[in-house]
Amino acid sequence: MGTVLDAATKDANGSLLTDKKVTVVFVLGGPGSGKGTQCANIVEHYGYTHLSAGDLLRAEIKSGSENGTMIQNMIKEGKIVPSEVTIKLLQRAMNESGNDKFLIDGFPRNEENRAAFELVTGMEPTFVLFFDCLEEEMERRLLSRNQGREDDNIETIRKRFRVYMESSLPVIEYYNSKGKVRKIDAAKPVEEVFEAVKEVFTPSNAEVAA
Ligand code: UDP
Ligand code: MG
Repeated sequence: MGTVLDAATKDANGSLLTDKKVTVVFVLGGPGSGKGTQCANIVEHYGYTHLSAGDLLRAEIKSGSENGTMIQNMIKEGKIVPSEVTIKLLQRAMNESGNDKFLIDGFPRNEENRAAFELVTGMEPTFVLFFDCLEEEMERRLLSRNQGREDDNIETIRKRFRVYMESSLPVIEYYNSKGKVRKIDAAKPVEEVFEAVKEVFTPSNAEVAA
């Protein structure tokens, strides 16, 4: 299996064209903040490929992989799966997509995830889309969404919130200190949140259009 870098286009002499531009946007925010919902909207309007780390891990469980039981147990406990497992799944999905613009949803979830991704792929996010939402609203959404997820019960939800506060918020802080965070008020109805999201992705935004 190649890496995203291996998949970069080569010129007539077979040497790597180092200027192939891959756009990565990390989509972060607490459990139930609306990452998946808004990513679907972004895909429809802006031609990104949506990669949900949680969905890739759940697919890995279903595929009967040797890591399946370990991943399932971690998700049930709201814990963060080892970086190498998640990064491999993300790299594979990026390579298979044929696209060069990615929304990576729900990853990186801790500092180690972040550092490992940058080291292994050599990529940094163009920016980080951060869905900011009060915990009580996120809890209400998770308990009412009925997607049959084993981790949408109040006991696991509480654990996920704790992991988010302790491990994931520092990642958002890190990117904030680099001026890369685009914060969205995510406590509003889906359409209103998407209006704010559009402001970030609008082509007149030099960073995206570049
Ligand atoms: N998860 C993980 N690493 C990731 C993404 C997800 O370990 O990079 C696990 C973790 O246990 C998390 C669960 O998958 O609680 C569900 O993640 P998802 O992003 O689907 O849901 P969210 O908590 O954001 O609603
Ligand atoms: Mg999700």
